[in-house]
Amino acid sequence: MNSPIKKVVVLGGGTSGWISAALLKKILGSAIQLELVESDDIGTIGVGEATIPPIKHLNNVLGINEAEFLRETKATIKLGINFENWKSQGHSYLHSFGAAGKSLAFCHFHHLLKRANQLEDDSHLWQYDLNYLCAKAGKFAQIKSKDPIIELPYAYHFDAGLYAKFLRKFSEKLGVIRTEGLVEHVEQCPNSGHIKSLKLKNGQTVTGDLFIDCSGFRGLLIQEKLRTGYEDWSHLLQCDRAIAVPSERLEKTLPYTRSIAHAAGWQWRIPLQHRNGNGIVYSSSHCSEQQAMDTLMGNLDSKAIADPKVIKFQTGRRYKQWNKNVIAIGLSSGFLEPLESTSIHLVQSAVVRLAHLFPHQGIDSSLVDEFNKQSATEFEQIRDFLVLHYHATERTDSDFWQDMRHMKIPDSLAHKIEIFKQSGRLFREQNDLFTDSSWLQVMLGQGIVPQDYHPIANTMSDEKLAEMLRKVKEIKQAPIDKLPSHDEFLKIFCRQ
Ligand SMILES: Cc1cc2nc3c(=O)[nH]c(=O)nc-3n(C[C@H](O)[C@H](O)[C@H](O)COP(=O)(O)OP(=O)(O)OC[C@H]3O[C@@H](n4cnc5c(N)ncnc54)[C@H](O)[C@@H]3O)c2cc1C
Repeated sequence: MNSPIKKVVVLGGGTSGWISAALLKKILGSAIQLELVESDDIGTIGVGEATIPPIKHLNNVLGINEAEFLRETKATIKLGINFENWKSQGHSYLHSFGAAGKSLAFCHFHHLLKRANQLEDDSHLWQYDLNYLCAKAGKFAQIKSKDPIIELPYAYHFDAGLYAKFLRKFSEKLGVIRTEGLVEHVEQCPNSGHIKSLKLKNGQTVTGDLFIDCSGFRGLLIQEKLRTGYEDWSHLLQCDRAIAVPSERLEKTLPYTRSIAHAAGWQWRIPLQHRNGNGIVYSSSHCSEQQAMDTLMGNLDSKAIADPKVIKFQTGRRYKQWNKNVIAIGLSSGFLEPLESTSIHLVQSAVVRLAHLFPHQGIDSSLVDEFNKQSATEFEQIRDFLVLHYHATERTDSDFWQDMRHMKIPDSLAHKIEIFKQSGRLFREQNDLFTDSSWLQVMLGQGIVPQDYHPIANTMSDEKLAEMLRKVKEIKQAPIDKLPSHDEFLKIFCRQ
């Protein structure tokens, strides 16, 4: 079987199913017919509420009105993630979406700051970061400045259920056909093994040329049918359980996610307009379900409004995310725990990759291989960034943290850490989702202190350096007083 791809079937109506349907239909338009199958009986995972800034590109491509989006999904603004107790108990740092200070050509700002710190200056990196300053002041507005160092990159927190509904409405307007029904049988071509059709419990048959498997962790097509296999990374990212519970909203809405480390994992707090999302992620080898439940429920800062839900997962990725005529997107393609809110982004980037490599003439192995190569690299780069948070810690207070400190980490990460430790230099692999600024903040935040700085930082006199830092700090702090509070922003903006 290798006929032109005219009809695409998306199996699954969770976040990944609806992003895939909306984006593919928007990009490919009448070049494809698109049908999405989902089962109300099975439902969706119901978590996945924090995002990263590239989601704004997704919304722009889809032509989504931002005020409507914020209103309909009860979204709030996210300027970064506050990591508490990760380096040591009582310590915290913000991984902000911004970039601190002002860099010179070939010399990042932190080299200049390091030199200044060796003189008389005792300021820290985040004092030069507008995202940090706004996050801590609880302020926000979209800033448009001619000065390139004044920018305030942001993402959103939203209600996962409302987001899927929002995208469904949007996709249906674009011409996506939605079919409700439980897939009970999958028919394959006897020769090629390609999927031919899905048979639903109600007797309906859904045929297609290309199938996007968004069926969640089970991977109904990619795994249960095609037996693609899974590369297990749980030796690197040892957390394998989560418990999620919503709670009442707090009076003041923080413009950032909180990630609070515990003895055997960590807890998230995601502020939404109408409630808070909470959950704990933990390692079942280091902590029982009851202990995790007690930690979570004992640490809520408002009343729970639903029963807690336990979710099991295995960190890793499918050996091939595209196999035959099936492309796994979302939880079916692999899972990296939610520490840096990357899963929804991985969905977006997989769909964009597919749109670029779309096999309109039929399945072509060179396109398949390229897709799989790019997807594998993307997963590995994010995995390394997540491992950094666990491994670079001073915590010794539990078996979990001892294991994290002593685990063997990927060579790619060890190399990055070593270079930074020795020289303060950062380098970004091609297409790495995380910028130098992200790597820098997490390395410093987790307690990795560079021993040296770039010699370009010595080319300025002491006085000139002090003057430059003073000015940059002033420029970065200037907008704060003029900005509304995050809550005021939401109130005014959502009315538009
Ligand atoms: C604890 C936790 C926290 C997370 N937090 C974040 C976060 O903060 N940020 C982030 O970006 N991501 C996060 N994620 C990931 C995020 O939840 C997922 O990436 C996202 O929800 C996409 O899920 P999905 O659509 O792939 O799967 P699901 O939501 O599980 O959807 C599966 C779909 O398949 C359908 N289906 C399955 N079997 C059948 C069948 N036989 N017939 C018909 N339909 C079927 C179901 O009905 C459903 O519609 C988190 C994940 C976990 C586990």
